[in-house]
Amino acid sequence: MIRVSAGTAGVMNLIRARVDAPPTTAYLMVGERCAFDCGFCPQAKGASSRVEMLSRVTWPEFDEDEVLRALAGRRAAEAFKRVCVQVVHGGGALRRAENLVRAMTSAARNVSGPGLPVSVSVHVGGLSDAVRLFEAGAERLGLPVDAATPSVYSRVKGGSWERAVARVWEVAAAFPGRVGTHLVAGLGETEEEMARAIQAMYDCGVTVGLFAFTPVKGTRMEAVRPPPMDSYRRLQVVHFLIRTGRSRAERMTFRDGMITGYGLDARELVAALRSGGAFLTTGCPGCNRPYYNERPGRTLYNYPSGPDPAEIEAAIRCSMPVTEGESAE
Ligand code: SF4
Repeated sequence: MIRVSAGTAGVMNLIRARVDAPPTTAYLMVGERCAFDCGFCPQAKGASSRVEMLSRVTWPEFDEDEVLRALAGRRAAEAFKRVCVQVVHGGGALRRAENLVRAMTSAARNVSGPGLPVSVSVHVGGLSDAVRLFEAGAERLGLPVDAATPSVYSRVKGGSWERAVARVWEVAAAFPGRVGTHLVAGLGETEEEMARAIQAMYDCGVTVGLFAFTPVKGTRMEAVRPPPMDSYRRLQVVHFLIRTGRSRAERMTFRDGMITGYGLDARELVAALRSGGAFLTTGCPGCNRPYYNERPGRTLYNYPSGPDPAEIEAAIRCSMPVTEGESAE
């Protein structure tokens, strides 16, 4: 059996569901109840959340062959730009992911359709684990660090941020252009700390998928509030300016950890943001993770597509740097 995100299952006709924001990546999950204990994660060792949850998304279970057959079909080839295998750490999940990637990418079966690249979002113990997954056929690896600083990392995830980051950078150096990470805003870091973490990742050739902390029932952090929208919008702008080379964290200005300037003038800034690209989901090419951080009907942290002109206008207004008189408190 294998878990498939509800949106993915809807698009592939594995379940009957109205999918109003179709995923452009097919999300699969292997393993359950992680060996780690991240405070925000419903799959964490100590969480009492429903086992079919990851973030706020449900992942029903299906027969693996049925999923592979559906992924080989025309419908999947038309709907998806990528397949992403989320690996819940422990219990042989890494080997399972390796076999799954091999099955999806082998020329003999070619079950993921012609040219559909496969990402694996996974914890690796070292370079050799990454090599195994790349050799099995993965196009990219997502190695989630999640936390922007050592203290947030040790409080929320446990363990050493420095070691986790060094591992990501080591894999990125060995496989340039094929490694990304996930960073989660709202775990207790400041905007400045997140900006510097994003910059450090890009400087080491690692792309960032930026997400907003989402409280999920049954997790250690279920009662913690998600980040304020204005703060998240500023971080999306920071991320956009860094990844498009328009600014750098060192050129930005901060007060009490909040962004007071993006390092380019207001007119240039608004022109750069007009396309709305800053407010889209980020990560591997083709990854849009609809409703991963928010319920349908609410203002979206990450837009899976669009946003429309009114939403762009509102997001730009919301993302303006803080001015004198505003403070972190
Ligand atoms: S960015 Fe998207 S496709 Fe890439 S590893 Fe993360 S979830 Fe998967």
